[in-house]
Amino acid sequence: KTVLEKILRRRSLQLRDQQQAWQESPEGRKMLEFRMRLPAYKEKDALLTAIARNQVVIISGETGCGKTTQIPQFILESEIEYVHGAVCNIICTQPRRISAMSVSERVASERGEKLGEHVGYKVRLEGMKGRDTRLLFCTTGILLRRLLVDRNLKGVTHVIVDEIHERGMNEDFLLIVLKDLLPRRPELRLILMSATLDAELFSSYFGGAQIIHIPGFTYPVQTHFLENIVEMTGYRLTPYNQIDDYGQEKMWKMSKHAPRKRKSQIASVVEDALRAADFKEYSPQTRESLSCWNPDCIGFNLIEFLLCKICENERPGAILVFMTGWDDISSLKDKLQAHPFLGDPSRVLLLACHGSMASSEQRLIFDEPDDGVRKLVLATNIAETSITINDVVFVIDCGKAKETSYDALNNTPCLLPSWISKVSAQQRRGRAGRVRPGECYHLYPRCVYDAFAEYQLPEILRTPLQSLCLQIKSLKLGSISEFLSRALQSPELLAVQNAIEYLKIIGALDENENLTVLGRYLTMLPMEPKLGKMLILGVIFNCLDPVLTIVAGLSVRDPFLTPFDKKDLAEAAKSQFSRDYSDHFALVRAYEGWKDAERDIAGYEYCWRNFLSVQSMKAIDSLRKEFFSLLKDTGLVDGNTTSYNAWSHDEHLVRAVICNGLYPGICSVVHNEKSFSLKTMEDGQVLLYSSMLGNLKFHIRG
Ligand code: ADP
Ligand code: MG
Repeated sequence: KTVLEKILRRRSLQLRDQQQAWQESPEGRKMLEFRMRLPAYKEKDALLTAIARNQVVIISGETGCGKTTQIPQFILESEIEYVHGAVCNIICTQPRRISAMSVSERVASERGEKLGEHVGYKVRLEGMKGRDTRLLFCTTGILLRRLLVDRNLKGVTHVIVDEIHERGMNEDFLLIVLKDLLPRRPELRLILMSATLDAELFSSYFGGAQIIHIPGFTYPVQTHFLENIVEMTGYRLTPYNQIDDYGQEKMWKMSKHAPRKRKSQIASVVEDALRAADFKEYSPQTRESLSCWNPDCIGFNLIEFLLCKICENERPGAILVFMTGWDDISSLKDKLQAHPFLGDPSRVLLLACHGSMASSEQRLIFDEPDDGVRKLVLATNIAETSITINDVVFVIDCGKAKETSYDALNNTPCLLPSWISKVSAQQRRGRAGRVRPGECYHLYPRCVYDAFAEYQLPEILRTPLQSLCLQIKSLKLGSISEFLSRALQSPELLAVQNAIEYLKIIGALDENENLTVLGRYLTMLPMEPKLGKMLILGVIFNCLDPVLTIVAGLSVRDPFLTPFDKKDLAEAAKSQFSRDYSDHFALVRAYEGWKDAERDIAGYEYCWRNFLSVQSMKAIDSLRKEFFSLLKDTGLVDGNTTSYNAWSHDEHLVRAVICNGLYPGICSVVHNEKSFSLKTMEDGQVLLYSSMLGNLKFHIRG
């Protein structure tokens, strides 16, 4: 043991010397000076003392104060410095892949090291870590997977859970597991970090854990809502200048397994707020313009108009535009690139910031542009709390973010744009005041902001729990309902029971709530059980190719577009694909047509002609690859398979696979001369009855 201790001590001293040498080099000194200016640095000693004295510490602090990049480093440095010989092993979880990757890269470069040496990262299907890695950034999912094989997190000294204010399902789940683990591992340290001040909830969950707040400072931000923008600029909103991909009507199906939060409820709050507003203090032109506002559109034209205004009249400073996702960021980017001023790279540095950007693109976001060039970043809500762009002075906020919601017809989760919460809107606004007083333009009226929820509901309370239940079972955590009753905020018992019953019906759990073989395979596929089951059946019945397309298509936004002013043409285009009234096959045909066209470099034209979203097609393409490699990981598909050609396209077979996958969420249509009705397959319940055969245009998926 003493020999080992000696080796470790020598290694620690080596590391310390290496760090000292780096900090004395010109680059290292510059980096250290930057770090020392961050608010978190001033709290270093207080933080380390608290962590040494308490098993659980909660740290809150304004976005950009240095939580993510500094605190894990403080711990690492102090372990090396003071605890000679101790081998620390710090795990810091991030809700997103992109932050785990970019933060680890940043921390390694702050320490003058190569990534993968002492600082590394691990996300699904990718990672950079070595034998000496002592600080590992990973996604929450990776840590949960590790717990599957290593219940006690052997050898781990610190677990840092970052961005807990986001209240994702995985993070809430992880907290229950960690809370159970703490008494078994008294020397393990748990540090929770949050960008907002609601730390009390977490503190009381961990029996009154100590809270440390890192004080921050922001300059005042002048706020403009839509009515102010319209009044100030005289911009005229019309139905024709607010067109983008949104506003597609969806039908909500009532069913026991349907989502608990219905889209219509949120939309109706906004509509009510708008109806009640009179905008009396504004000019008639402004009132008229506001009456044409379409809440379902982000309004690319208005954004372009505002950007021009800012570039023409306002003082220097970067502009940050909050959009909902990669698809509308890239549409807007295309639009702006065609603009004579905004698209001119000698005047505007146009950048995107979203979950799937390349790391070379990421670095540009932090760089200062050349003199006379204005930085313009189109970002998703990733720039709200995970990534801080330092020189932002102007913020444009579309008021929406993608959250897991449910495609009404399929009842499958997909990321759909919905209104953000007040806290998010404030966070977005705050991004404008980091370096000097700033301005924020909200592209919605004040009354709509007032109608926003205070906080976003935690994911565990708003989404179905089926996947979570499977995960609880695969981690052997005992009774599902007992386990979930110990969550930070427990879901309703009924929701839990429905999820368990659903899993029994589809055959993932047996009568005694134990995982079946199917259930075990489903836990290896990180997606809704019904989609996972479709894939598994696709393999078994040798028709994986079309099934992959369908499952990928159900996980992205509907690729069939219905532009506001070309509804008829769009529907006609779609009906060519759905000649057998099947949306699922329409998807397969549309995708396969696109794939052929893409081979002749005519993918764009094909989409344009057929009212298809290019982004959705590309997303389907990459999801197909991802799902295929997942299936290889499970061992269901031979790891050497590279082509999809051998799979059958028999439509009857595929139809059966779809129906089995969607069961019990399917119903049959019963119609006679005068009426028709929809009956569930499960128990024959009538869901819908109509005697107006002629008036109702009916659309049935699958
Ligand atoms: P927090 O987690 O508290 O929001 P971070 O630790 O992420 O803050 O960031 C602290 C500071 O480091 C911010 O000012 C941010 O702009 C800067 N920073 C973070 N990542 C990078 C990077 N990759 N390149 C340059 N600066 C960065
Ligand atoms: Mg952070």
